[in-house]
Amino acid sequence: MIAEEDLGKEKTEDEKFEARRRMLLDGLEAMGVRKKVLEAMLRVPRHRFVREDMKKVAYIDTPLDIGLDQTISAPHMVAIMCDLLELSEGQKVLEVGAGSGYNAAVMAEMVGKTGHVYTLERLETLVNYAREKLKKTGYENVTVLHEDGSAGCLKYAPYDRISVTCAAPEVPNPLIEQLKPGGIMVIPVGDYFQELILIKKDERGRVTKKTEGGVLFVPLIGKYGFRHR
Ligand code: SAM
Repeated sequence: MIAEEDLGKEKTEDEKFEARRRMLLDGLEAMGVRKKVLEAMLRVPRHRFVREDMKKVAYIDTPLDIGLDQTISAPHMVAIMCDLLELSEGQKVLEVGAGSGYNAAVMAEMVGKTGHVYTLERLETLVNYAREKLKKTGYENVTVLHEDGSAGCLKYAPYDRISVTCAAPEVPNPLIEQLKPGGIMVIPVGDYFQELILIKKDERGRVTKKTEGGVLFVPLIGKYGFRHR
């Protein structure tokens, strides 16, 4: 979704980057990422979410610095998390850690216009960064909120899906409580050694947890996260 006023101006640059994006996605396809996730990632211009001086490397499969010691996650990590979440049209999603806004945009593509993504960010500079990038790329089904996301966001709860993009010391209880029956959450847990945890809540409210392998994320800082760094 590219904002209309930017269509003419950015066309050439967007076209140039689209070829690089397709190459990156070919690699992710070979890793077994589902088609629905790949299609969403194809529609999101990652080069418009990275810092201006990093556009050239926007389609290398690596996390990139977005300032304040924070990063935009590597594309393969975005793909893995979106895949595990089984996102579909019409869902209400909570993201903890808006960062650049890129992951929220990919999820917004997957839940479509009838769905919505609420994304929480603790650093005001990044709240403004993500809002600007999402506005310029035309994502109206994403709301960026300036909040300590370690406690989730009661105002819009419960959520069909929760994606936490920073590592927690343990799974915060408020996030489990704010997940709908039938809901899915992904969250990195740990300090120096981190694992991605897949959490499912069944229709009767029973919660199961499964480990999906080692990961490396910046810390979740807040009431139910790490207190300071
Ligand atoms: N999803 C992001 C993207 O697509 O660019 C990448 C997120 S970055 C790896 C993690 C983010 O989590 C950082 O922007 C950091 O400031 C934020 N964060 C850390 N603790 C938080 C908290 N308690 N509430 C909200 N955001 C938090």
